[in-house]
Amino acid sequence: MPSYVTSITCSRCNWRCDPGTIQNLCPVCASPLLVDYDLEAIDRAVTKQSIAQRPPTMWRYEEFLPVPDPRQIVSLGEGFTPLIAVGSALTELGLPNLWVKDDGLNPTGSFKARGASCGISMAKALGIKAVALPTAGNAGGAWSCYGAAAGIAVHVAMPEDAPAINHLECKLYGAQLTVVKGLISDAGKLIAKGIRENGWFDAATLKEPYRIEGKKTLGLEIAEQMGWQMPDAILYPAGGGVGLIGIWRGLLQLQAMGWVKGNLPRLIVVQAEGCAPIVKAFREGKAISEFWEGASTFSSGLRVPKALGDFLVLQAVRETGGTAIAVSDADSGAMMQLLARRTGIFAAPEGAATLTAAAQLREQGVLAPNDRVVLINTGTALKYQEALEQICN
Ligand SMILES: *Cc1c(COP(=O)(O)O)cnc(C)c1O
Ligand SMILES: [Zn+2]
Repeated sequence: MPSYVTSITCSRCNWRCDPGTIQNLCPVCASPLLVDYDLEAIDRAVTKQSIAQRPPTMWRYEEFLPVPDPRQIVSLGEGFTPLIAVGSALTELGLPNLWVKDDGLNPTGSFKARGASCGISMAKALGIKAVALPTAGNAGGAWSCYGAAAGIAVHVAMPEDAPAINHLECKLYGAQLTVVKGLISDAGKLIAKGIRENGWFDAATLKEPYRIEGKKTLGLEIAEQMGWQMPDAILYPAGGGVGLIGIWRGLLQLQAMGWVKGNLPRLIVVQAEGCAPIVKAFREGKAISEFWEGASTFSSGLRVPKALGDFLVLQAVRETGGTAIAVSDADSGAMMQLLARRTGIFAAPEGAATLTAAAQLREQGVLAPNDRVVLINTGTALKYQEALEQICN
């Protein structure tokens, strides 16, 4: 089966190339490259009904993904995570139509498994032997995991103060881990040097075109799980914001195919008060964000001081009539506890941040009582022992 990819296209200029070549950033303007598909051909090849019969992983949307040959897919059961109704368990929020998409149930305990499954599958398809990436924590674990499954070497650079489990999982999977005194941005500089010197493939987020495609399946699943109807709002905890760009692109593709009708949901960015560059840029009406000095939050996935795809995140938020909001760690910790006690969902602090934001946006009247609202819980609390110790003591 050939893939339905028509071209790899620059997100900023007009550069494009054929699928099947190894690409990183746009060779002309150094912006992220995105994957385009022949949506009419996908529409002829599959139906909602045929997808419904397939196994419950993100690869049920194989035609919407770039891997040319199914034998190259590296899968450990990622995706098709439950969409759990929580409105009636949390009546004080005043949002009866509230769902949590629980992506903490993925392999390696975060939604990074989606990006890694797709990214490593494409690396395998393209004959790449070694990949390298900087990470705030969970991406390191996920790429180490899928690299191990595919027999591809993985080089990871991670901040020293990322959750301890993120260091340990990379080591257990046999990845080469370099610990960095500093943030993901400092880890990025180190990885760039390693790539220049050793010829590793740069798998940093949005520096290759396929990780985002895996994350896109979050949007496809939300549409399918809601009966191919779009919710009114989706709240996403944004670090690099790639999951949000992915959801946006996935829903735009479904809309272009006529598989979903009406407006796209309002896409809402949630960040931590200690690191909120995209929220600041949104408030100031800017098209790109500035480097956030002194980034600090226990939501390690949100500790990204400057995102390469910030302009795409801001575009997605503005074009869908969404908004951006920063919440405190104290409030997110309390919400993590409330969610666990009322619903049994063991959410990462990043996921709890979206619940905090939903409560505040409802109070402010930005969300209406009857809005159908989906929160993305991007990880499991099992990966946040340090944060849990703060919250529970
Ligand atoms: C990486 C991560 C995020 C942020 O994801 P982006 O796509 O980079 O915005 C949020 N939550 C968790 C748990 C993460 O691991
Ligand atoms: Zn370009």
